Amino acid sequence: VSPAPSLVHALRTAVAETPDHPCLAYFDGRLSYAEVDELSDSLAAYFAARGVRAGDRIAILLQNSPHFVLALLGAWKAGAIVVPVNPMYKTGEVSHVLRDAEVTALVCADRAWESYLRDTAADSPVRIVLTACELDFQSRDDARVLSFERLPQAADADDLATVARLRHEAPAGRDPGPSDIALISYTSGTSGTPKGATNTHGNIMFNAERQRTGLGLPEAPVYFAMAPLFHITGMVCQLGACLNSAGTLVLAYRFEAGVVLDAFAEHRPVYTVGPSTAFMALAAHPSCTREHFASFRMISSGGAPLPPALVEKFRAGFGPYIRNGYGLTECSAPCASVPPGQEAPVDPVSGTLAVGVPGPDTVVRIVDDQGKEVPFGEQGEILVRGPQVVPGYWRRPEATAETFPDGELRTGDIGFMDADGWLYVVDRKKDMINASGFKVWPREVEDVLYTHPAVREAAVVGVPDSYRGETVKAYISLRPGSDTDGDELATYCREKLAAYKSPRVVEILPDLPKTASGKILRRELRTRTDGAGSPDNGQ
Ligand code: ATP
Repeated sequence: VSPAPSLVHALRTAVAETPDHPCLAYFDGRLSYAEVDELSDSLAAYFAARGVRAGDRIAILLQNSPHFVLALLGAWKAGAIVVPVNPMYKTGEVSHVLRDAEVTALVCADRAWESYLRDTAADSPVRIVLTACELDFQSRDDARVLSFERLPQAADADDLATVARLRHEAPAGRDPGPSDIALISYTSGTSGTPKGATNTHGNIMFNAERQRTGLGLPEAPVYFAMAPLFHITGMVCQLGACLNSAGTLVLAYRFEAGVVLDAFAEHRPVYTVGPSTAFMALAAHPSCTREHFASFRMISSGGAPLPPALVEKFRAGFGPYIRNGYGLTECSAPCASVPPGQEAPVDPVSGTLAVGVPGPDTVVRIVDDQGKEVPFGEQGEILVRGPQVVPGYWRRPEATAETFPDGELRTGDIGFMDADGWLYVVDRKKDMINASGFKVWPREVEDVLYTHPAVREAAVVGVPDSYRGETVKAYISLRPGSDTDGDELATYCREKLAAYKSPRVVEILPDLPKTASGKILRRELRTRTDGAGSPDNGQ
C-alpha cells in the first residue's frame, strides 16, 4: 500500500473515520481530529486571504504545542512551505533563516515576539506575523488564541473565530502532492552554518508510513513527543507517524525530565523517540521508576550516538530496551534502524553499537576517499540513496551538487557495515582527532566514559597541542550525588584504551552544551581549549 500523498491527506482520512478521537493532548487540553482539521482550515484561509500563495515560506518558531501543529497543517493546506525554526536560536541565527528562506509569514510565541523577534523580523522579508500564547493552553478555546498581526504594527489583530469568515473569500487551495516541498529544515548546525534541506511531502510520508507499518504498534497509538517538532525526528517519527495512524500525540512544550515523567504516567504512551541525552536525563531524575515505562511498546533513540552502556543501564534500571536509529535531516529522519524484536549487536573491536539495518528501498554504501566501495568491516563514508533522501538544499546548487551527487546523500559520517548487514556509525568525519598522526574517534572514548557509573554525559574533542598536533580532552557531567574527579576518570580511561586515545585531561562541567534537539555540541566545547596538557606530562 503506498502512503498518503501528504499529512494533510492523512489528516482528512482520520477526520472521516474517527472525527472525535483525540489528536493532540497538551497538559489539560485535548483537540479532536475534527477540531484540528477545522482550526487548521481557518488558518489556511487566513494565510490565503493575506496573500500567501503556493510555494511561499511560512516560518514556525514554536515549542511542542498544539499551535505548532495547527500552524503547520494550516500552512500546508494553503500550499505553503514550512520553515521550522528552533526557538532557542539566537537573533543572528533566526535572521539568517528568515532571509535565506525568504520567509513571508512568521508564527511564534507572543513572548518571543515581544522580547526579540519584533526587532529581528523588522529587517526581513516577513510581512505577516501570528503570535501564539503557547503556555496558557487549556482547551479548544485557547487554540483560538493565536492572535494575528501584520507588520509593521499590530494594526489588525484578529483571532481565529473572526478569521473563519475569510474562508469564503480565500482562493481555494490545492492539496500538496508528494513532490512538493513540505519543509525547509535547517540542519541543527552542530558542524557549521545551518543549510536548509528541502524535505518533500513524499520524503516525509515514506518515513511516516514506515513508522506506522514497521513497528508493530497497536491501532491509533498514543505517541509522546519527546523530540522537538521543529527537528526532523520529532516532525516525522512523532507528529508524522501519529497523524498517519490516526493516533494521539502527547505534547509537553519542551523537554523537562519531571514533566515528561508525569506525562508518561498520565497518558500511558506506547511509543516515543528522543536523542540519547533525553534518556540520560530521565534515568538521572530522582523520581524515575520502571512504572513510568510500563505502557511503552517501544522506545527509540535517534539523531545522536547511543552509548551501549546507556542501553544496558536503562534496561537494568527501567525495563525497556532502547532501540537505535540513524538518520539525518537530509534523509527526513531515519534511514536505518533496529528491526522490532531484534537487538543491535556491539562491534567486538571498537565497542560501537550498531545503528540498525537500512530500511526498505534504502541503499547504504560505504566508500573510501576515492568513492570506491569498501569490503564489509572496513571503515569509509556512509552514502544513502532512497525515497526519504531530500532533493537538495534550498537555493544552494553547489552544496547540493557536493552533498547529493547523482541524488545519493554523502552523509559526512564514517561508518562500516558487517557481513550481516548491520550498519555502524563510527563518528563524523570532521570530528576525527589527529593525535601525533593517530586517528582517534571521539565516540569510542565517550562510549568508555559512559561505562563509568558516575558519568551522566560525556563529550570528547581534540584540542591543539604544540607537540602532538592535537590531544584528546574529555568533558563530563556527573550523575547526581556522584563523587569523582577528572584525574580518576582519566585513569579509568587509560585502563581501557590505548594511551593515545585516552583523554589527557577530563574536565567536569555542571552540564554539557547541547542543541535544542538535545545533541551535545562538541563544536562549542572545542573552543574551550584550556588545560589540554603539554608534551611533558603525558604517557
Ligand atoms: P549540521 O549538519 O548542521 O552539523 P546535524 O548534522 O547535527 O547538523 P542532523 O541532521 O540533526 O544535523 O544530525 C544528523 C547527524 O547525527 C548524523 O550525520 C550523525 O552524525 C548523527 N547521528 C544520527 N543518528 C545517529 C546514531 N544513531 N548514532 C550516531 N550518530 C548519529
